[in-house]
Amino acid sequence: MNPHDFLDVDGELSDEERAIRDAVRDYGSAELLPHVADWFDAGTIPDPRGLARSMGKLGVFGMHLSGYGCAGTNAVSYGLACRELEAVDSGLRSFVSVQGSLAMTAIHKYGSGEQKQEWLPRMVTGEALGCFGLTEPDSGSDPGSMRTRARRDGDDWVLDGTKMWITNGSVADVAIVWARTDEGIRGFLVPTSAPGFSANVIHKKISLRASITSELVLDGVRLPKEALLPGAEGLKAPLSCLSEARFGIVWGVAGAARTCLLASIDYSKSRVQFDRPIGGFQLTQRKLADMLVDVNHAMMTALRIGRLKDAGLAHHAHVSFGKLANVRAAQRVAATARGIHGANGITLEYPVMRHMVNLETVATYEGTEEVHALTLGRAVTGLDAFR
Ligand code: FAD
Repeated sequence: MNPHDFLDVDGELSDEERAIRDAVRDYGSAELLPHVADWFDAGTIPDPRGLARSMGKLGVFGMHLSGYGCAGTNAVSYGLACRELEAVDSGLRSFVSVQGSLAMTAIHKYGSGEQKQEWLPRMVTGEALGCFGLTEPDSGSDPGSMRTRARRDGDDWVLDGTKMWITNGSVADVAIVWARTDEGIRGFLVPTSAPGFSANVIHKKISLRASITSELVLDGVRLPKEALLPGAEGLKAPLSCLSEARFGIVWGVAGAARTCLLASIDYSKSRVQFDRPIGGFQLTQRKLADMLVDVNHAMMTALRIGRLKDAGLAHHAHVSFGKLANVRAAQRVAATARGIHGANGITLEYPVMRHMVNLETVATYEGTEEVHALTLGRAVTGLDAFR
């Protein structure tokens, strides 16, 4: 039996989807896997520009978008790319999610023709990097409470505020910044070279270490009126981008969980205690069976939501279902995998604890478990329990 894909979920894929899966998997094994433990150890991506160019060549940035050099694949293909990247590390999938699902999607959906022409062709190739600034020090699950303000001054806009926990913030060329205005929440394209803009790397993270996370400070950043995203009005605009990125997480965490399962099967067959491989003990086999079920459920959930999305039938609550179910499953799998590896499991020689701690971030960003539970509760009762 194939523990990698026990129920042959990938048997449902088209030839094109399979080809994309294999290309990203091969790239991950050759270009990312040999380095990722060192990057995690160093707490950074040492050459984000080089990584962006090589991922641009692979074609994963904004691959589900059309025009401007984007690949225009279906949602399932994008999900598969996320799965194969996160099988290596959640930080590397985040690198792609932020660029494609958040920054590029915001410009693609809500930008003017000029904004799209200026940024998208360079972002597809990885020549330019974007970040997405929604969260603030005092505004996380409730982004409607944001304090960052944009006020009109003649024809210009002036932005003041602080964004927190922004992936790729200090390496981006452009920040999509969401701010409160007299007309409600609006989005702005902020070149990171603008006077008054600064980004500070957040150090001492013990999760998602192979990823750059920053604080953005906007101190009287003056922008021309063309910096406003004309189509983005109200909170539903950033939330729609988040739903795209969450879709990638639904798939991605299935990859992280799969890596933990495969590592655990290998380890349990070779590690001998009490004169037997630990995989021969019933208690270990129970753990492996539970992990196998979680991984395959996660893969099926991802594919089903992907097919709904490609048919134009995915509601954002479906994505919440996937995020809640699959992140929880991946966390269970990674924690069990860590235990099966014993002391070795706490080192970077094995992938399991790296995935386990990464998943702490993945559980928090793009909506916590509680937020998605409330979304699902609202979807089935019609009653809003958010506040
Ligand atoms: P809080 O909202 O303060 O939540 C704290 C706890 O309270 C949670 O358990 C939460 O579930 C619970 N809670 C909140 N409201 C309710 C409620 N109504 N009912 C029950 N429980 C509730 N943000 C960006 O904008 N861009 C990025 O690129 C980005 N990258 C990130 C990278 C990393 C490594 C991390 C850790 C975060 C990143 N974030 C980013 C921020 C992330 O989206 C927020 O952390 C997330 O939205 C949660 O907000 P918070 O951390 O302020 O937690």
